[in-house]
Amino acid sequence: MKMFIDGKKVDARGGKTFDVLNSATLELIDKVPSAGVADVEEAIDAANRGKAVWAKTPVHERARIMQKCADAIDARREELAVSLSTEMGKLIREARPEVRVAAQILRGFAEKACHHYGQTMTEYQVGTENDIIFTRREPLGVVACISPFNYPVELSMQKIAAALAAGNAVIVKPASDNPLTVMKVVEICLENGIPGNVLQLLTGNGAVVGDLLAHSPRVNAITLTGSTEVGLRVAAAGAKTLKRVFLELGGNDPFVVFADADLELAIRDATLGRVQNAGQTCCSPKRFIVENSVRQKFIDGVVARIKGLKLGSPLDETTDMGSLISERAAAEVQKQVDLTVKQGARLVCGGHIFNKTYYEPTILDGVTLEMDIAGALECFGPVFPIIGFDSEDEAVAISNHTPYGLQAGVMTRDMGRAMRVASRLECGGIVINSSGNYRHLDQPFGGWKMSGVGREGVSVTLDEMTQEKSYILKNILQK
Ligand code: NAD
Repeated sequence: MKMFIDGKKVDARGGKTFDVLNSATLELIDKVPSAGVADVEEAIDAANRGKAVWAKTPVHERARIMQKCADAIDARREELAVSLSTEMGKLIREARPEVRVAAQILRGFAEKACHHYGQTMTEYQVGTENDIIFTRREPLGVVACISPFNYPVELSMQKIAAALAAGNAVIVKPASDNPLTVMKVVEICLENGIPGNVLQLLTGNGAVVGDLLAHSPRVNAITLTGSTEVGLRVAAAGAKTLKRVFLELGGNDPFVVFADADLELAIRDATLGRVQNAGQTCCSPKRFIVENSVRQKFIDGVVARIKGLKLGSPLDETTDMGSLISERAAAEVQKQVDLTVKQGARLVCGGHIFNKTYYEPTILDGVTLEMDIAGALECFGPVFPIIGFDSEDEAVAISNHTPYGLQAGVMTRDMGRAMRVASRLECGGIVINSSGNYRHLDQPFGGWKMSGVGREGVSVTLDEMTQEKSYILKNILQK
């Protein structure tokens, strides 16, 4: 496929391309352009023309076009889901709902934008009795949307739809391992009425393309979902031009199981939450903090569940877990598991790569706070580090023992305790009686601490994608 700049399908000016592989089989699917400085500048030029066009388009018309794009995505759901499953190893059963939710996100932002109001002020300040002051929410200008590999369609759409609904021009930069389905979705939007200069898409090395976008004075905002490491770079680059930077970053989420919990439910949701997307989910449970009196029972239950999982082709409707995104990703998980074992954890099951990009569901017991995996190390694979505790205070302290703070899950039949613990956890969202692997498209999703800056969801992102302007009609009521 090609990039989209100013309504045209284009190669990189320098002629460079890179390969996109089927993650499960490593077969070549396609080659896409590797953008350089000239391509990025061209996209920024076009978007700066597009921002004026789109800001002048009335919101009802923007919304109508976005609804049409959503219908067109729905109509091609199966084709897009197969594309997504093939390029990233995601189960076809998980790819379909991801495409569906992307269309819902488009509709949600289109509807919300039609009712996104400013404010009017009262005359309570003495001397302003004859003034009328109101505000309008106006677009930021050009918004660069940089997205990760793990939920490429859904997470790109959270950014694209919000930015477009708010009247901004957009430059999309999808992840390099699997950009194809996002490219198809952008193509559908362009075919269904989004003007060519309003929506551009660049493919290429993140450290080149993403960095140029983050540094450019002609890009007004960057919204990135990705690792904390890249988020820190983008924040530093964006600060040079004081652009708005919204960051949805990594996590090392706790899943706290008290002894009074419904243990079967805890075992089921721990397993489902961790193996979904082969463990490559920002808010999947990544540390299992289990009361010592039920720890062994919990481990035995998860082992039994893991044994019953069918690992294999993501396109097979009966498969429970597909591949990781790449050989590099599998090697990284192996390195993290080996390190944790070296630091003293006990390998209960799993612990190996198979078929090059697959990783066995792996349980590591006896994890302690001194080990990296209990704190700053985010493991993006189906790995279950188990940490025991004996008191509520200890469970909270272990949960908060990480620089991250995305989401959490708390399992207990005592609702008072659930709410007490939830109120003490340093994170953006807590799921009571399931794992934190949960996202509603309206929810203000986002992290505390090193998990990000800002909140994303239909209920909140339009505020972030607009700036408020005050209109002052001075002395307008004076006779
Ligand atoms: P990544 O940080 O490697 O890449 C994310 C995007 O940033 C890609 O498009 C990449 O090309 C681009 N990029 C890379 N270097 C850049 C630079 N210097 N400047 C600008 N852009 C650059 O992340 P990934 O491996 O694709 O995704 C996994 C990570 O994303 C995990 O840490 C996960 O927790 C996190 N994530 C967070 C959320 C959330 O909502 N908080 C959701 C999904 C994933």
